[in-house]
Amino acid sequence: MKKVLIAAAMASMLAATSCSKTETTQPQEFNYVADRFADIEVLRYKVPDFENLTLNQKKLVYFLTEAALWGRDILWDQNNSNNLAMRRLLEAVYTNYQGDRNSAEFKAFETYMKQVWFGNGIHHHYSTDKFTPGFSREFLAAQLEALPEGAAPENTAELVEVIFNPTLDAKRVNQDASVDLITSSANNMYAPGVTQAEVEAYYNSIRKPDDLTPISYGLNTRVERGTDGKITENTYKVGGLYSAAIEKIVENLDSARQYAENDAQRQIIGSLIDFYTSGDLATFDKYSIEWAEDTISQVDFINGFIETYGDPLGMTGSWESIVNFKNIPASARTETLSAEAQWFEDNSPVDAAFKKNKVKGVSAKVITAAILAGDAYPATPIGINLPNANWIRAAHGSKSVTIENITQAYDEASHGNGFNEEFVIDEETAALLDNYLFITDNLHTDLHECLGHGSGKLMPGKEDALKEHGSAIEEARADLFALYYLADPKLIEMGLLDNPEAYKAEYYKYILNGMMTQLQRIEPGKDVEEAHMRNRKLIAEWAYEHGKDANVIELVKRDGKTYIKINDYEALRGLFGQLLAEIQRVRSTGDYAAANELINAYAVKVDPEMHREVLDRYATLNIAPYKGFVNPVYTAVRDQNGNITDITVDYTEGYVDQMLRYGRDYNALK
Ligand code: ZN
Repeated sequence: MKKVLIAAAMASMLAATSCSKTETTQPQEFNYVADRFADIEVLRYKVPDFENLTLNQKKLVYFLTEAALWGRDILWDQNNSNNLAMRRLLEAVYTNYQGDRNSAEFKAFETYMKQVWFGNGIHHHYSTDKFTPGFSREFLAAQLEALPEGAAPENTAELVEVIFNPTLDAKRVNQDASVDLITSSANNMYAPGVTQAEVEAYYNSIRKPDDLTPISYGLNTRVERGTDGKITENTYKVGGLYSAAIEKIVENLDSARQYAENDAQRQIIGSLIDFYTSGDLATFDKYSIEWAEDTISQVDFINGFIETYGDPLGMTGSWESIVNFKNIPASARTETLSAEAQWFEDNSPVDAAFKKNKVKGVSAKVITAAILAGDAYPATPIGINLPNANWIRAAHGSKSVTIENITQAYDEASHGNGFNEEFVIDEETAALLDNYLFITDNLHTDLHECLGHGSGKLMPGKEDALKEHGSAIEEARADLFALYYLADPKLIEMGLLDNPEAYKAEYYKYILNGMMTQLQRIEPGKDVEEAHMRNRKLIAEWAYEHGKDANVIELVKRDGKTYIKINDYEALRGLFGQLLAEIQRVRSTGDYAAANELINAYAVKVDPEMHREVLDRYATLNIAPYKGFVNPVYTAVRDQNGNITDITVDYTEGYVDQMLRYGRDYNALK
């Protein structure tokens, strides 16, 4: 529930914002763009100040990155049971191909393979729709025929059918509650034939209703039917499901543990190893608490079954890892915010009954990502707030991070792409964005992560009451908190902004994105489904509708094009405050009916005319709707006795090379 994804539009808008400032400080030879295909642009990111870490810290990072890379296959298999075999098939064809690599068929095949890599399987990472091949069945058949003995997986015929039959495994995560969410989803977190009703009955039978510290049921299991026909959980652990990959993760965590920065961190890594070994979710909670409470170590990491977007019931965690270290100077910004957490809680427009009397341990920092893996690769969040268990957050606090080397890469790579000229209403607004969007976007992420998710309180037993709308409502709550406070004079007082008008840059972008530009990610005729997109659409459309009488937001038509015009920014802030109060009430009281009504009225249906217009205008710009990253390559330099004397970092590896290397060197699951 707790990750912030960058909106494509935001990445694009960051484009023109800081050219003059950044061009002078960034060496031009760094090539931010690694690849471009379909609706994807793959970027590179830098890891500034890695060389300033101590040798012990570098070794710690190194082994944690190895632990991260070894988890890749787990995610692939969680996403769909055919994914790993499919990857072997595609890579075998690609590497053995003898024909013309510039032919249309081969190019289409290559694009398909790149898409599958990017999606960590046969479904789009964002829409979760299955990819459509642009090459022919005959082409693939001929290539398979020519493969050397044993190069293709055994179930090749079945895989070919999965590629070309659009009705097979059509959607990875189905959110349409009018049908069985589990049987209509193609992910592999539930065995074939297991139904939603059975799974819900099963979890209801094992949940303890009065448990104030519940484990995260189902987080690390595949739900299956036992030989007795009853529902059972198959646990991801050493000796259990995905054992071969988990053993490699544990092995590298064990190496990393030797270089821990302090005893607390050694203990944290030890608890994670215990969890992977036992599969016991109470141990995972113990680890999460220790992890949340470690605000001292500079090097940090996420490694495990974390976010539950990949499961339509929001229970099973997709495997992911991000290894990172604190960006000390930039963290001063989020520490300033965190120190004032109680002031923000006390002064929010939310009903006092739903506020925390004492906001606990909101820790926040700006980090530098060193590796992205599993569900955080190649597409990655720009901010994270963990752990996810609400009772841990309430009792032990949570850690909130902004990944600034990633936002920096988005900013640098999307230079001068024409977005502002196409979509921003006038030069005055464009200038506002130029001057203030980068800082207000970063502050928005900080506020969303450090304060937004941690604010407010739930009535007992309401954790899952919003069901399929839980994620979108939670994201709306955090975004509204951020939007509301972005315009508060408090930020000027705190020295975080230097101009009382600065917030307008983020307000303009938010409404433009929520009402218009994010629609470029949706295929014609489809609904908005992803939680963060629904949240943005909900907020923007609600504010438009409720500000109509006072003409707060206007849709101006010029030469057949629609532009967002904000006539009254102060009134817009008032609307954000109003909606924040309502969304907090819905969340706190678990008012499913109200959530359902808000989502359906504002967040799902797309106006086809506006949609067409946005797609057409985007088409003229050639901006990829989705972006992701290749990782740097870390190499351990050893002396003649095998001791590590340094860890070097290289940024030159390309997308295809990296994917093939990961498939070759980290394929634990056969
Ligand atoms: Zn969030």
